[in-house]
Amino acid sequence: MNNKVLIVYTGGTIGMVQDENGSLHPFALDRIIDAVPQLKACAYDIDSVTLDNIIDSSNMTPSLWVDIADIIERHYDRYDGFVVLHGTDTMAYTASALSFMFKNLAKPIVLTGSQLPLGTLRSDGRENIICALEIASTRLAVIPEVCIFFESHLYRGNRSTKISAENFDAFETYNYPSLAKAGINITFKERLFMPMPSGPLVVRRGFDRRVAILKLFPGITEPVVRALLGTPDLQGVVIETYGSGNAPTDPWFIAALDEAIRRGVVVLNVTQCKAGAVKMRQYAASCDMDRIGVIGGGDITIEAAITKLMYLLGNYPGDKDHVRQRLGQSLRGEITEN
Ligand code: ASP
Repeated sequence: MNNKVLIVYTGGTIGMVQDENGSLHPFALDRIIDAVPQLKACAYDIDSVTLDNIIDSSNMTPSLWVDIADIIERHYDRYDGFVVLHGTDTMAYTASALSFMFKNLAKPIVLTGSQLPLGTLRSDGRENIICALEIASTRLAVIPEVCIFFESHLYRGNRSTKISAENFDAFETYNYPSLAKAGINITFKERLFMPMPSGPLVVRRGFDRRVAILKLFPGITEPVVRALLGTPDLQGVVIETYGSGNAPTDPWFIAALDEAIRRGVVVLNVTQCKAGAVKMRQYAASCDMDRIGVIGGGDITIEAAITKLMYLLGNYPGDKDHVRQRLGQSLRGEITEN
């Protein structure tokens, strides 16, 4: 019997067509399948489900993450793998969010999309969709992870970042090697996969949107920092710091963070650098933050950091100690634990 893959179509450039003004809009899934006739001859069975509204992924929201997860959970037992067609702009956020939602995932969920619509002559979408389907359906290596396939590489979803608005190789995982490479053959690097889980699948749907990202820059002022940290009902902040997690040592800056933390805001320190990790206390410029209770995010990406924060706050409401503790640990391979 053939393996079975379910495509979940959410929108994005891969399925878009140009309107009379030249702007791109999402289009129906049948047109996508028609644009890749090779799919009719593949060695696996494909079914598809489309979100109620197909979107440019700039309109992605936590409730749509839940919709995608619901579709996958409903069909989980009947399919060997899942391919989510998604816009590239927020693909790394969705991949991170889904990775946290699915505990004990034992089947591949592969997100892919394209930089050029499938209907165009030079589209990168055909290659991406065919490889993503092959990876999601293969019996050679079952990847128990949420991944992104793009331009010949399979990446861990919650390590991924979109790095180019121009090139076909638009994604990268700076702090983790790719999980597979598609050349003449697809070469899987099994030793890098998450271990196959033993427990049953658990899907958690909570996301708390009362969070913010505070990106530092030389010259940032106290009113700006206080305005963000003083947002009514704020529950968590990712602070994007310099280098290995350093920030200004101005007393007003530390005092503003300290007051927020005392009000119960969870603060996670993530570096602005693409590669490498936050190391609290490596420099004096992170000692005060460590002292007042800012949590070091290690080598997490900003996409994984903000979705993990929303996920933990949403699923453990009222248990900030648990949230803080889990932020420092790897839930789904999103950080390197020492
Ligand atoms: N704006 C598009 C989206 O994210 C870009 C793309 O798919 O590449 O939906």
